[in-house]
Amino acid sequence: MKNKLILYPAFAVSAAVIYVLGLFFKNSVADYAVFLLGILILLAVKMIPRGEFKFFLVFAWLATATLAFPLKTISPAALLICCLWYLSLYVFSIPFGDAELKLNDREQELMNKKKNLEEIKRESVSTAEKEDDNIESEIKGITSLYTAAKDLSFAIKFDDMAVIIKEILKKVLKYNFKIEPDSVNVLLAFKKRDSFYIAASMGYDDEFIKEKEQELIKSVINDKTQLEISYSSSGNDNMDFHKSVLKVPFVVEKRLLGIMIISAPVENLFNAKQVENMKILANQIAISLEKVNLYEEIQQISVTDSLTGLFVHRYFQEKLEDEIKRAGRYDNHLSLVMCDIDFFKKINDTYGHLAGDFILKQLAVMLKNHTTPAETVARYGGEEFVIIMPDTDKEAAHAKAVKIRKDLEKTKLNFNGTLISITVSMGVSTYPGDAVSRRNLVEQADKALYASKNNGRNRVTKA
Ligand code: GH3
Ligand code: MG
Ligand code: MG
Repeated sequence: MKNKLILYPAFAVSAAVIYVLGLFFKNSVADYAVFLLGILILLAVKMIPRGEFKFFLVFAWLATATLAFPLKTISPAALLICCLWYLSLYVFSIPFGDAELKLNDREQELMNKKKNLEEIKRESVSTAEKEDDNIESEIKGITSLYTAAKDLSFAIKFDDMAVIIKEILKKVLKYNFKIEPDSVNVLLAFKKRDSFYIAASMGYDDEFIKEKEQELIKSVINDKTQLEISYSSSGNDNMDFHKSVLKVPFVVEKRLLGIMIISAPVENLFNAKQVENMKILANQIAISLEKVNLYEEIQQISVTDSLTGLFVHRYFQEKLEDEIKRAGRYDNHLSLVMCDIDFFKKINDTYGHLAGDFILKQLAVMLKNHTTPAETVARYGGEEFVIIMPDTDKEAAHAKAVKIRKDLEKTKLNFNGTLISITVSMGVSTYPGDAVSRRNLVEQADKALYASKNNGRNRVTKA
């Protein structure tokens, strides 16, 4: 602003000069016009920052003055004085003009610096925010891994494990890997008593899993299944429509306890670091799976009769209670078959207790062979056995019992070369017709069995 002050004395001097010119040159209109034109051009010069344009404008003034007002209409002396006066004024203004330019440049420079600083500030704020976000997400990730370990430690059953692993995986995918859990497919298979089964899945239809379970297991656990984590990020063997496939085996002491397959129809779903992280998670899961296996084993032992391998009396009672509740819920029948070896004391007395034990074992095998996995065979006590037949009415249960009785009657059991024949007496009771409580249902079957005994043994009686 300071440099613009030069204009005021310039205007004052211009006014004085116009007056003097008017006096000296018997001024014509053209003389005034040229002078005023010069003033206007000077003003324009002051407005325009660049030196080259100033020269151009002064030149334009001269050209306009001489072209618009031919020399003869302008007094040459006036023109000359104007020229000299403007020239001196221009020369005089250069240092100011330069100063102004320099100030403008400096101002511009400062503005740029300010802008740059603001940009840097904005960037650093957004980087800090991003870092904050990253740290927060990392914390969430670490927390999810920590709670994973904690949650896993509580699981004592395969079913619980499957649910917990699914939840952990969702969190890890979301917070650690930044992958939407809904965008991937997951198959989780566990080994339970020497065979694998699909314990959980994500992104698959339940019906599809049920239908294709064995096929899926075969494809997931094949001879090539390695005990190491494996990742293929473009196309693969069995899951044809999936480009990225991560196989995460759960291994303890070189024993495969389960496997998790994460796949997606996109390439490069995971990076190397994520695969590495998955290894850590897999180790945690494997250790927990081993624990569940041991727990299940102990559980199994505690409900298994050591001689026959059948369920024990306590388990039978619990199972019957559950099955009755289930039958009640679904409005189903449920039948109970009680079975007692005829004159077993005599067999012990005749062939010895070892032979008796052998007979008990053989009968257990036979009962197992005659029943389905849905049915429960238990040793009720001594030489008495029970079969829970869910979803079976009395006629069907009776028919099954008769078949067992007849088959047994025909069988000769070979104990160390001695052929022994046995027969059994049976009683059948059915929920809800005969009884609705566990106690009464057992009582009814027992009564029917007693009737079989009283009526000559080797027969099946309906309650
Ligand atoms: P009934 O036809 O009336 O059932 O006659 P039973 O001789 O089978 O019946 P009882 O209840 O008199 O005898 C059952 C016998 O079963 C008595 C017992 O020694 C025998 N027993 C019970 N548990 C075992 C076992 O674990 N091993 C052997 N060897 N014998 C057993
Ligand atoms: Mg008995
Ligand atoms: Mg008996």
